[in-house]
Amino acid sequence: MTEPHEPNAVALLACLDAHCHIDLYPDPKAVVARTEQAGVRTIAVTNAPSVYSHTAALLTDSQFLRPAIGLHPELVADHAGELELFCEHLGSTRYVGEVGLDFVTNDKELRQKQKMVFQTIVERCGEHGGKVLTIHSRRAASQVMEVVGKSFPGRLIFHWFSGSLREMEEAVALGFYFSVNAAMFRSKSGLALLARLPPDRVLTETDGPFVQSRNRPSEPTDTGVVVRDLARMWKMQDGSARDVILTNLRRLLREGD
Ligand code: MN
Repeated sequence: MTEPHEPNAVALLACLDAHCHIDLYPDPKAVVARTEQAGVRTIAVTNAPSVYSHTAALLTDSQFLRPAIGLHPELVADHAGELELFCEHLGSTRYVGEVGLDFVTNDKELRQKQKMVFQTIVERCGEHGGKVLTIHSRRAASQVMEVVGKSFPGRLIFHWFSGSLREMEEAVALGFYFSVNAAMFRSKSGLALLARLPPDRVLTETDGPFVQSRNRPSEPTDTGVVVRDLARMWKMQDGSARDVILTNLRRLLREGD
């Protein structure tokens, strides 16, 4: 059974979805309307430059949602040719994602191709300065950090981080933020990472519609559940955890360069 989208105490904690695929829901306009109504600040990531304009058009009048220009590492095999289009759109938004590396593939050539594309993206973003990147890093956290380097002039967010504790500590030292979702609270390795994350680097996300909440695809208004779970873990009031997330977001946006 699915549950409706009515507001409740947990829903009211929702304040930030730093990684959501708005364009991939069956009815994106309805999701945008509910997100806007609830005032949840949302980074609407895209997986390919060719779908960016469509997503940006959905959000033209939006107060709380921002489109991000992306090129998902798992789509690099077929969409690397869109890198030029990526660069064309880059000037029109501060937000970049979903980008990064996915080394689940053992194909050396494909890994190399992903790396070249991500390197170019990082370089172009560096030239612009102040960009906010939401980064995929499955089995490639160290390689992502290697590409980004130590003095990237912008903000870096590891989305759904699943690297080792050591890699997490390295990322913290490099200034990365981490957007965390409900699925991470449901896995043992996810919980181990969450317990070690410095609260001042934590943001919330859904990765909707890929992660489920209450038997339906998660959407930005569901990030309240993540805030509540963080509050329990941090042993603080729900409202205080929400304040931590918003403070982190404000700091991240302020320290753009
Ligand atoms: Mn994603």
